[in-house]
Amino acid sequence: LKIVRTAAEIEHLDVRTGLVPTMGAFHEGHLELMRTAKRETDRVVASLFVNPTQFGPGEDFSRYPRDEVRDADLAARAGVDLLFAPTVEEMVADGVTKVTVSGLGDRFEGAHRPGHFDGVATIVLKLFHIVRPEVAYFGKKDLQQCAVIDRMVCDLKFEVSLRFCETVRERDGLAMSSRNAYLSPEHRAQASFLYAELKRVRGELIVSKSLVEATLEESKGRLRAAGFLVDYLDLVNPRTFDKRNELVRPCTLIAAVTLGSTRLIDNLTVLEA
Ligand code: AMP
Repeated sequence: LKIVRTAAEIEHLDVRTGLVPTMGAFHEGHLELMRTAKRETDRVVASLFVNPTQFGPGEDFSRYPRDEVRDADLAARAGVDLLFAPTVEEMVADGVTKVTVSGLGDRFEGAHRPGHFDGVATIVLKLFHIVRPEVAYFGKKDLQQCAVIDRMVCDLKFEVSLRFCETVRERDGLAMSSRNAYLSPEHRAQASFLYAELKRVRGELIVSKSLVEATLEESKGRLRAAGFLVDYLDLVNPRTFDKRNELVRPCTLIAAVTLGSTRLIDNLTVLEA
């Protein structure tokens, strides 16, 4: 595995390149994206960049877990050929140009983390220009991010295929996340309740159909009783993130909660497209 820190060091070879953008602290979710890219393309480039522009003031940018030596070893074993680990200076410098996906990028995660998706979209577009991948891989764990990038690529007519891969979970159902490392043992044990609750709500929605709002309100009550602070729990169209008040295809449950000082997000498809 080769590690490079500047855009100028990336060669543009005449092979199918797969790009896996990440912020490091690799877990099985990241490694599955890399393995999938390895199966589907000829050269896998992973980027490792803790993007300061997607963190709000007071968020966890400075304490975000970083371990490049461990990450490089895991990436090599998952089939990554080139690790692009730029400095903040290389990626952000004094740039003033921003990509904003209006509407879609302002709701849910965008509403709770103002500027977050501008930071994501701007850096992902830069990575696309720097690496010029045929295919780029993202996890459905961050479903709104998938929708934002899909819309950006479509609106800006950027030529890249997007692959959105299934969420990898711990044995008890908790979606893997670099942020899970922040959880105390007690909160870690409680955290799996979120996914269990999403599955319960999906079951209830499929039975009750019309009672979307009441079902969601009851679930929020259970989450609060279990010690979670609920940012949102909603049923949405997974492409537009418009709220759904009825069970119309496609629809997905999305949730963001805080447990102690750790923010968790998750989602569950209710009706496929
Ligand atoms: P991050 O390093 O958290 O920015 O994530 C890098 C990529 O890995 C993003 O496309 C995420 O959606 C994806 N990812 C993170 N966690 C998971 C997971 N549990 N399952 C699948 N993909 C994931």
